[in-house]
Amino acid sequence: MSTLSPVEAAPVSDAHAVPPPLPDIVVSVRDLHRHFNNVHAVRGVSFDIRRGQVVGFIGANGAGKTTTMRILATLDEPTAGTVTVNGHDLRDDPVSARRFIGWMPDAYGAYDNMTVAEYLDFQGRACGLPRALRRERMEEIMHFADLLPLADRMVNRLSKGQGQRVCFGRMLLHDPEFLLLDEPAAGLDPKARIEFKNLVRILAARGKTLFISSHILSELDEMCDSLLFIDSGRLVHHGSAHTLKHGSADGTAVFVIKVADTPVERLAEWASMNPGWSFAERLRDGARLRHESGAPAEVAAGLRRMILDGIPVTDFHREERRLEEAFIDMISNKSK
Ligand code: ATP
Repeated sequence: MSTLSPVEAAPVSDAHAVPPPLPDIVVSVRDLHRHFNNVHAVRGVSFDIRRGQVVGFIGANGAGKTTTMRILATLDEPTAGTVTVNGHDLRDDPVSARRFIGWMPDAYGAYDNMTVAEYLDFQGRACGLPRALRRERMEEIMHFADLLPLADRMVNRLSKGQGQRVCFGRMLLHDPEFLLLDEPAAGLDPKARIEFKNLVRILAARGKTLFISSHILSELDEMCDSLLFIDSGRLVHHGSAHTLKHGSADGTAVFVIKVADTPVERLAEWASMNPGWSFAERLRDGARLRHESGAPAEVAAGLRRMILDGIPVTDFHREERRLEEAFIDMISNKSK
């Protein structure tokens, strides 16, 4: 069994060896604030992250992502508020909490005259891993993060993407449960990005909890179970990408309807006669219609009526907003 798995089955015959159940909430952040002189970088942020979840952290430049992540990684202290990881308060008991935390910064300091293997071994020692366990962990991580081909390369001569992979491996050395990744895919080529996404999902399947910041919203969308949006130090959304993409700024839903050999005016007329529906835009062979709520039962009834009314529908689907649009809507709504 992989040592990357945090929850090992305890032997049933020895009741004393059974560890206490881990709390379902891995990370709990309450009313977090961070001031840098006159800059109020984080302003009352609160959220929980459940075990095994992959949560994306999105915000514009200067929104407060790195500041929040550095506090969660115990590299900085909040001006006010609390953070607990597996029940350990980061301010009162950072040493206990650190055992559970893995941190992958957006840039790392590479040392001169050190190979990748030596670097990982050095980092393993710094984590206090005994020799045999260190060897075992390194072998596994080299394999998992595809670092074997780089083992003898000098760490300060790696490309940005290769360095990211080393940094990713280093984060996993002490087998932490909660992984913080700041812009992890920034230097990766398209193939490496796909591989990275797969590794993220494998880690989540093994029970790890991941908190990942990125500017590439579509990428987070594919990797994450939920998304946290931060704007000017305040959380403006915590929920699934699905909810965001299927909602709109005014709560309505838009449907693309394609018809065969039918003037678009028929769709406009249909919308005007059916409560809840309105005409939004003409398309080449159909139209965008808006529904006031997008409630599934009402939409299904609308489609049924449309067909019974003799409209030859060839395609009917709910339009997804791009995550970027949802993000911009959210920010502009807050500033109104
Ligand atoms: P980016 O996407 O550009 O990395 P971010 O969301 O990570 O941005 P932060 O780095 O958290 O943003 O910065 C939030 C705010 O806090 C910014 O206004 C920044 O200038 C300020 N800030 C961050 N660190 C410090 C510091 N050590 N001293 C003074 N101000 C700081």
